[in-house]
Amino acid sequence: MQTSQYQARDRAHHLHPFTDFKALGEEGSRVVTHAEGVYIHDSEGHRILDGMAGLWCVNLGYGRRELVEAATSQLEQLPYYNTFFKTTHPPALGLAEKLCSLAPAHMNHVFFTGSGSEANDTVLRMVRRYWALKGRPGKRWIIGRENGYHGSTVAGMSLGGMAPMHEQGGPCVPEIAHVAQPYWFGEGRDLSPEAFGRHCAEALEDKILELGEENVAAFIAEPVQGAGGAIMPPDSYWPAVKAVLAKYDILLVADEVICGFGRLGEWFGSQHFGLEPDLMPIAKGLSSGYLPIGGVLVGDRVADTLIDEGGEFFHGFTYSGHPACAAVALRNLELLEAEGVVERVRDDVGPYLARRWATLAEHPIVGEARSLGLMGALELVADKVAGTRFDKSLAAGNLCRDLCFEAGLVMRSVGDTMIISPPLVITRDEIDELVRLARQALDETARRLAEHVVTDAQREEIRA
Ligand SMILES: *Cc1c(COP(=O)(O)O)cnc(C)c1O
Repeated sequence: MQTSQYQARDRAHHLHPFTDFKALGEEGSRVVTHAEGVYIHDSEGHRILDGMAGLWCVNLGYGRRELVEAATSQLEQLPYYNTFFKTTHPPALGLAEKLCSLAPAHMNHVFFTGSGSEANDTVLRMVRRYWALKGRPGKRWIIGRENGYHGSTVAGMSLGGMAPMHEQGGPCVPEIAHVAQPYWFGEGRDLSPEAFGRHCAEALEDKILELGEENVAAFIAEPVQGAGGAIMPPDSYWPAVKAVLAKYDILLVADEVICGFGRLGEWFGSQHFGLEPDLMPIAKGLSSGYLPIGGVLVGDRVADTLIDEGGEFFHGFTYSGHPACAAVALRNLELLEAEGVVERVRDDVGPYLARRWATLAEHPIVGEARSLGLMGALELVADKVAGTRFDKSLAAGNLCRDLCFEAGLVMRSVGDTMIISPPLVITRDEIDELVRLARQALDETARRLAEHVVTDAQREEIRA
């Protein structure tokens, strides 16, 4: 099959997620045909280093026979049965048990969903239900963060803080508010990182006081924002937020859909930051993306109330705890554990990536290079000293992303922030290759942009 034939068929019938349908139709899709390890292959015969682990999910890398076998044998044994109406099956109960053994000690229950978005819909219903059962039905507001991402269902996008999403198909779910994100490079450089982190926690406190603490149910946040641009908060941020939430008795929902399962060098991002969340939505790396599955890990405080006082919870999905998905997720967790993948991220490849990635900070169009575990970001800038951005019309980030593809690397762009989140099984040699390809793409991006860009200094010269 020729690429052009694939593209024509794709264009004719397939509406892609988060895509300008018309523009993609004109350009033609990239057709990915197979993959192994940390590499994907396209229909043109290119081998491309997948710096994004698919969509932040293929933590064990591609081509793992063990996961294929877990799926196949479960499909033969019991391809489907539901977990409604007092039934269960070994994969669902086994996965629940395994997850709770890995989660922080106070989290001993899990509610399964088909995706991260469904997990956050579950969160919304659970936290409001919890407070109603506690005799405080006024506690309904949930505070999220600007530019946070919690999925694309109606509740998921409402909890998230992505304005372009809110503008389509609204109105959003009522009684959800958003506060400043701890994005120092983007929004806080007039303060020190530590002062800015505290400033963001104060913004949360101000919002709680504005809404009335008796009306606020929960705060939801990713330990490190992923889709928003791999935004690692200043060290001051989480301790200050924790103190605010404790002061007003507000639940913490740590969205672990990306940070969970080793991305930051701990089983959960919450453990890296010393958080004790009441709820943790999970998905993505839970199954290394081999089959779709998500869930919500529920802390004892909420679980005990729902169990002891709740009666029937009118919520669930046909595929909650799907046997094949659960079997693959369970095998995935066993492999992560048996191969010491999480410890390897913390002690070996994470620190190694940090050293190698930091060298990109010297590049003329990079204003900041940051990483934590196996997540990293580069901030593209027009003027390195002043830290000013490129003109938006140049779409520098998109250009760099396209040039990465040409160079043989998947690196995603969020505006002019370039991000990576490679499979956790990436080797040191592959990290060297990733950084080399990123640098090559940055050089080419700089060269192409130089044809368009005049800096303020150059403009002065021209005037003189
Ligand atoms: C991807 C993501 C989601 C949504 O997960 P889906 O499986 O795409 O529905 C939710 N929260 C975070 C933090 C995510 O990165």
